[in-house]
Amino acid sequence: MKFLKILLTLNFLFLGFLKLQGQNKKVEIKTEKLTDNIYMITGQGGNIGVFIGEEKLFMIDDQFDHLSEQLKECISKLSNKPLSILFNTHMHGDHTGGNANFNSDKVTLVAHDNVRKRVKTNNLEKLREKKIDTNYFTRMLPEITFSNDITFYDGDETIMAFHVHNAHTDGDAIVYFMNNNVLHMGDTYFSKRYPFIDLKSGGSVDGYIDAHKKVLLLINDETKIIPGHGKSSDKKELQEYVLMLEDLKANTLKAIAEGKSLEEVQNSKTISSKYDATHGNGFINPEKLRTTFYTSLK
Ligand SMILES: [Zn+2]
Repeated sequence: MKFLKILLTLNFLFLGFLKLQGQNKKVEIKTEKLTDNIYMITGQGGNIGVFIGEEKLFMIDDQFDHLSEQLKECISKLSNKPLSILFNTHMHGDHTGGNANFNSDKVTLVAHDNVRKRVKTNNLEKLREKKIDTNYFTRMLPEITFSNDITFYDGDETIMAFHVHNAHTDGDAIVYFMNNNVLHMGDTYFSKRYPFIDLKSGGSVDGYIDAHKKVLLLINDETKIIPGHGKSSDKKELQEYVLMLEDLKANTLKAIAEGKSLEEVQNSKTISSKYDATHGNGFINPEKLRTTFYTSLK
């Protein structure tokens, strides 16, 4: 028993050490030029989109708090224009963690209504425990919110942001740069890997698939897609992806109709076996995927 206790303590210390190391390690920030004035930035957390407008910058998502300085340095190399609009595709911390650091008097933070609600509730405890101060807390919150859609104009560019219902969460927005023909899908798309559908925050399998179908009506073969996670993508890949989701849905529904329990579906490898090798090696492994599909569709 004593030995086990020591082991557990050691394990705990080691995990703590790993966590510290993870925070201090310098993350490699990479940029990919998608068009003359749109870049995709990857580091740690959700993919960022940066649009260089005529006079100002428009940025989509901002990863984690501890990466803000590195990201600012990276963006300053792309353009010396000031940031004007910071847009959140949804509320998860790997997309909004830098909100307070980027949000100054000259920046307007924009997101769907439910992003503001959830960022607020999710960080109230940190505020109460004094892990963050009131000023930081206020700067984390979107200042302009919308329920269905919102459009931005900059020179020749029209930037449409539209809400998709109960997809990855209940506050997802997809951003389309019409002239550049670039789409940022946030976490409504995990390119080449199984999606994380946050059922506890209002996400659903049906909403996720509907979001893809809506997008497919809007884009063409030349559209460049920035997914929430994974490499930049296009219409053809998105079409294949939604076919996979529909196949997984059909297999899960069949298992439900046969009266299978959650546990049986979790263990039923055949439901997802066709895609596990190509899509199941990320954060969402095959078992987690089957759990989400069953829970959402039951
Ligand atoms: Zn997310």
